Amino acid sequence: MADMWVGVNGAEEALRQVNAEMMGAARLLADAAGAKVTAVLYNDASARHAEALAALGADRVAVVESSQDALPPETLGRTLARMVADAAEAPAVVLLADGAEARAAAPALAQAIGAPLFSDVVGIEAASGGAPVFVREPYTAKVVERVQAAPGTATVVATVRRSALAPAEADGSRTAEVVRVPADATALARSIAEVVRAASDRVDLTEADVVVSGGRGLGGPEGFAVIEALADALGAAIGASRPAVDNGWIDIQYQVGQTGKTVAPALYIACGISGSIQHAAGMAASKCVVAINKDPEAEIFALADYGIVADLFEAVPLLQAELARRA
Ligand SMILES: Cc1cc2nc3c(=O)[nH]c(=O)nc-3n(C[C@H](O)[C@H](O)[C@H](O)COP(=O)(O)OP(=O)(O)OC[C@H]3O[C@@H](n4cnc5c(N)ncnc54)[C@H](O)[C@@H]3O)c2cc1C
Repeated sequence: MADMWVGVNGAEEALRQVNAEMMGAARLLADAAGAKVTAVLYNDASARHAEALAALGADRVAVVESSQDALPPETLGRTLARMVADAAEAPAVVLLADGAEARAAAPALAQAIGAPLFSDVVGIEAASGGAPVFVREPYTAKVVERVQAAPGTATVVATVRRSALAPAEADGSRTAEVVRVPADATALARSIAEVVRAASDRVDLTEADVVVSGGRGLGGPEGFAVIEALADALGAAIGASRPAVDNGWIDIQYQVGQTGKTVAPALYIACGISGSIQHAAGMAASKCVVAINKDPEAEIFALADYGIVADLFEAVPLLQAELARRA
């Protein structure tokens, strides 16, 4: 079978965890099919992450060269499309990490090469012969679907949810061939002037093992002090519902949900959040949900593994004190 490609954004000092997760899935498919894995590394002209990608299972690292430090998503999609067209054999699968970038790049790629696109994939399995099967959880995880491309499909494009797949284990003895490919120059009409990242010592929301989220029940921006204290005690990331963001209590980068970020931590603690379908869209894949809400009828309890019917301003400090006692 043809090779597996993984798009890797190398802009940051350390490779994001989702790249190890995509590499793990690509390696699994490649091993089942007797194929190879190519990591397409962009926003990293010096290829500083090439060795790490080899250790994670890449047989080949294709470094995208561009005059721009940050490739606009459309350029990334067009570049991948040209690479597919130029390849001796089109890849069986191209994986990209779900997020704002992939939401623009993946459709551009799929459209350009006439490939099916599976978005927000939470699992990848190999059918007999290594053909990829993609697991999705639409309708806020009320349904689990396993989808495959129609027979005869050359390439499938898929975007992968962060924290959903098992990461590849690094093996420092592995090496990869490094090749260089130019970015698609015909798609450079738009350029990214600057990428601004909010500086925070906290663990990234989309990659955190534990997330403590606050909603309208916090009553105001000062309510987040309670959330922060519990998050500090747990080494957790902070999340928020949309009203907390719309009211200006916390920055939009913390919003979880349909129009915010999708998270899948081991533990999600929802404080003063009612559990709307739009919020659930961003957190329903959490492995364990603890809900604290003073309304026993709140919908969040239907999503929760553990429910605490209480005033969050009493319950959260109690939890924190108990954690401190056990530390
Ligand atoms: C197109 C669209 C997209 C949307 N996208 C998103 C999204 O991405 N993310 C998102 O979150 N929402 C989104 N929403 C909004 C969504 O519909 C809900 O309005 C929102 O999720 C509700 O937020 P909440 O639970 O914080 O507030 P509320 O629904 O007002 O719930 C507050 C909860 O706090 C409880 N509470 C109050 N005080 C306390 C206390 N002291 N102690 C304990 N509990 C208390 C209340 O009992 C209540 O259950 C979207 C809506 C639309 C139409």
